[in-house]
Amino acid sequence: MENFLGVSEANLKQTFSEWDVQPYRVHQVFTWVYHRGVRDFALMTNLSKSLRARLQETFCFSLPSIREKHPSSDGSIKYLFELEDGSAIESVWMPAKDRNTLCISTQVGCRLACSFCNTASMGLKRNLTAGEIIGQIIKVNEDTPEADQVTNIVIMGMGEPLDNYRPLVDAVRLMVSPEAMRLSTRRVTLSTSGLVDKIKDFQTENLHVNLAISLNATVDEIRDTIMPINKKYPIEVLMQALRNYPLKPTRRLTFEYVLLEGINDTDDDAKRLARLLRGIPSKINLIPYNAHVSSDYRPPPQERIFSFQNYLMSQHYSVFIRKNRGSDIMGACGQLAAQSIS
Ligand code: SAH
Repeated sequence: MENFLGVSEANLKQTFSEWDVQPYRVHQVFTWVYHRGVRDFALMTNLSKSLRARLQETFCFSLPSIREKHPSSDGSIKYLFELEDGSAIESVWMPAKDRNTLCISTQVGCRLACSFCNTASMGLKRNLTAGEIIGQIIKVNEDTPEADQVTNIVIMGMGEPLDNYRPLVDAVRLMVSPEAMRLSTRRVTLSTSGLVDKIKDFQTENLHVNLAISLNATVDEIRDTIMPINKKYPIEVLMQALRNYPLKPTRRLTFEYVLLEGINDTDDDAKRLARLLRGIPSKINLIPYNAHVSSDYRPPPQERIFSFQNYLMSQHYSVFIRKNRGSDIMGACGQLAAQSIS
């Protein structure tokens, strides 16, 4: 049986047309499921008995189950979810004064092999389905003390979202659709290592969520070594695609830059970064490297980080140093997965 969670409106319309059911019934079913939280077709009293029966024969409701929950001293919680086939993925809940952000995964493992990333050591085990992607949000929303507490989504957990294109797009559409999860496109951020062809495809989907690019280096020589995907899409090719990326007025691209001591943290790097981003409405997130056991990289000393930030600010960029939330529970950027997951 197919998991109803994750089925797109378009696909359900298609199925209904094959069943000779009117398209407006899709709206009714979605309202029950996503707005009222009903997980039993039998309770959908404005549908005919025969349609309810047919839905019941065709679809089930499947959510990831919580295998472990690790609360951090800073209030964030790392969830280890178990999927139906026994694979495990992680999501991180990060509450703050003005928002509650959930960081979600899109693949079990990843195949991009970035040298500094913990998930990379797993390789790619498999892609998540759209239902498994949004299932993380639904499950955390159910687990929080008051319902529907997740206000912001960052697609920055395990995996490369654009390497799992169709399920990712279906999942994002469900997140922002008024028929489904109703999140504002401003509150959903998709982070990519820079798969240029897929970025170009994504802009045709008309999903105006925020795009974050993990740039992490300013010269090909370095980016090639820490992010092998750079050999396929070198910095200039990536930047050209981003300069052409259609942004709505007042919206910006986010550039993520993991700071690795002695690798990409010099004043010259800061200058090159400023030059690369010139003309692109952008916001920069500096992420001091989160060390994990199997790695020799180190984050730069505080003064180096501030000096990098200060230069970029002097060039009129908005630059934030990302807090390492959940680092005591291995929930911080790049720390997900590996040792807890078999
Ligand atoms: N594949 C996507 C999303 C997952 S990685 C991407 O590349 O954007 C999410 C972010 O975590 C990326 O910016 C990545 O550069 C960063 N990251 C990975 N490992 C890290 C580590 N050990 N310390 C700090 N940031 C890390």
